[in-house]
Amino acid sequence: MAEQCIFCRIVAGEAPGDIVYQDKDFLAFRDISPQAPIHLLIIPKAHITSLAQLADEQQELAGRLVILAKKLAEKEGITERGYRLVINCGSEGGQLVPHLHLHLIGGRKLGDRLG
Ligand code: AMP
Repeated sequence: MAEQCIFCRIVAGEAPGDIVYQDKDFLAFRDISPQAPIHLLIIPKAHITSLAQLADEQQELAGRLVILAKKLAEKEGITERGYRLVINCGSEGGQLVPHLHLHLIGGRKLGDRLG
């Protein structure tokens, strides 16, 4: 756990989070400032600063993260309508929280532009 990391603090139960799912490796919670009716953040519990820090050996973790997002989209009832998964990486990628997270966004028609 990184002491100053807000997402690590949510994992540890030291900061509030609207948690929708957790298992031993992952946590999913609602974004505090949602960009759409459904906006979840799905994170590995281990502190990985960004996608750029993900190691080759963490391939399985990365795959499971995406499969979990797919399952949570089903649980939120947006699979048929469609949704978007986003990982921001680094400052120009728009990453504000330095703990790897996958945005699951849906529940409305999303814009065509990605950036
Ligand atoms: P990013 O720009 O990809 O780093 O996204 C960080 C996201 O985390 C933003 O959408 C924020 O609204 C969200 N966020 C920041 N702090 C919290 C928090 N305490 N609980 C839930 N979401 C948060």
